Amino acid sequence: MAETFRAILISRDEAKRQSVDVVELSPDDLMDGNVDVTVEATTVNYKDGLAITGKSPVVRRWPMIPGVDLAGTVVRSDDPRWSPGDKVVLNGWGVGETHYGAYAGLARLKGDWLVALPERFTPRDAMAIGTAGYTAMLSVLALEQAGLSPKDGPAVVTGANGGVGSFAIALLARRGWEVLAVTGRPAEADYLKSLGASEIIERAELSEPGKPLGKERWVAGIDAVGSHTLANVLASTKYHGAVAACGLAQGMDLPASVAPFILRGVSLLGIDSVMAPLEKREAAWKRLAEDLDQSVLDAIATDIGFDDLIGAARDIVDGKIRGRVVATFD
Ligand code: NDP
Repeated sequence: MAETFRAILISRDEAKRQSVDVVELSPDDLMDGNVDVTVEATTVNYKDGLAITGKSPVVRRWPMIPGVDLAGTVVRSDDPRWSPGDKVVLNGWGVGETHYGAYAGLARLKGDWLVALPERFTPRDAMAIGTAGYTAMLSVLALEQAGLSPKDGPAVVTGANGGVGSFAIALLARRGWEVLAVTGRPAEADYLKSLGASEIIERAELSEPGKPLGKERWVAGIDAVGSHTLANVLASTKYHGAVAACGLAQGMDLPASVAPFILRGVSLLGIDSVMAPLEKREAAWKRLAEDLDQSVLDAIATDIGFDDLIGAARDIVDGKIRGRVVATFD
């Protein structure tokens, strides 16, 4: 095991001013856990951007190593389910928020939090997917459990160029859905169509206050945006349709009416990836391994190194990242 390793550390001074530094740590500096994992790859989620910029109160314990997603190899384990050499993936569970996270050479974690890395994925592939792809998969599974299928009508995806949105498009298209992609970056239409979108809708069409009910346009939705966009997505959902709500890129508010629910029987499905139980995680990773083409992963992923993580975290908050940023460690 490495004697020391690099880590990104977010600290706060007495005046609650936040600073972000690259530091050298030893295994003894880590928080409690029964499994040590060498981090081979991580990624930059919107939440990691919020943590590093301090724009929203993601970090709830100071100091903190950010990074909510990692893939790597077990190097020490007191958990009978895991042995040195096992390849694992971790998404969420408060890692990078209340427990030291992925932006470090070594992570000390609870064995309960780990999922075996599906054989077909490298750590880099798993991080190209990361929480974004796994959340998109949870959303697709929720729509299927609500009884919906491509024969019922089209599906809409908001925040299309983002990590969740990109995977939602690819995963829905793979199962035969006609996908309408909502974006503020229509110049990326070719990218969205290469993932499987059949139509591009300008973000502005849905992001302003709208009517309680609109023309029925789609039967299913995956919304990474919240606020007026989610309200308008609900208002244009067909009879007995459903929308999986998983994000808040526009806002945490939901200025909607009950009209779609009580007049069209529309369902709003809440998606949480952070505390999702192990069975749901394993089901999602199994389906990701079945459904994702390598070409999709390569189209969505941009590769960076450890030194680029802080800059990429700032860029994601500024809406400058397309798809997913993957950092592999030497
Ligand atoms: P990204 O930043 O990669 O993507 C968000 C996308 O939303 C952007 O690319 C942009 O797409 C769109 N967007 C950004 N700002 C606005 C705005 N003001 N109004 C409308 N659309 C906007 O983030 P992720 O894909 O990683 O995450 C998306 C959301 O999902 C985040 O809010 C995140 O916190 C949440 N999330 C929730 C999880 C859960 O467990 N429920 C798990 C993972 C993420 P475009 O340029 O195409 O318009």
